[in-house]
Amino acid sequence: MPLTLSIVTADRTVLERDDVLRLVVPTTEGQITLLPSHAPLMASLSIGEMIVHVPDGPIPLAIHGGFIQIVRDDVSVLADAAEHADEIDEARAEAARERSRGRIEGRVPVEAGAVDILRAQLSLQRSLIRLRVRRRRSATGVPTMR
Ligand code: ATP
Repeated sequence: MPLTLSIVTADRTVLERDDVLRLVVPTTEGQITLLPSHAPLMASLSIGEMIVHVPDGPIPLAIHGGFIQIVRDDVSVLADAAEHADEIDEARAEAARERSRGRIEGRVPVEAGAVDILRAQLSLQRSLIRLRVRRRRSATGVPTMR
């Protein structure tokens, strides 16, 4: 039996499927692959790429932290933010990448202090993941991945 998957953020449902064959998930402990009949699990998500394998092919998503729970082939993802590849605004992600690089390298003034550098580093990670997910798709017109 395939997995049922629901990915929600505070303001919307990003994806709902009942035909998931395999799920590649970025957790804070590293990347994991979930298959049907997985043991119950709760994990925190990192900023990374999630790949949802359905019979039509892989669906890539950018995921930006949150939680995942799996119970009896039911997977729930509560994400801080999540985007499908075709929802990602590449120019916006490039601008975010340059802004955060500038802050990290000291070219753009920040309030000073470790917290601001950490914020810039997290923002840089989000932008790089968005660009990766976006470009993976636009390179070929169809997603090609593991
Ligand atoms: P920015 O600096 O461009 O605002 P951010 O990393 O600070 O980026 P988030 O706080 O992670 O943005 O996200 C705020 C909202 O905007 C979320 O709903 C997220 O899905 C969306 N979002 C952020 N960047 C993009 C993008 N490049 N394309 C599409 N949606 C985006």
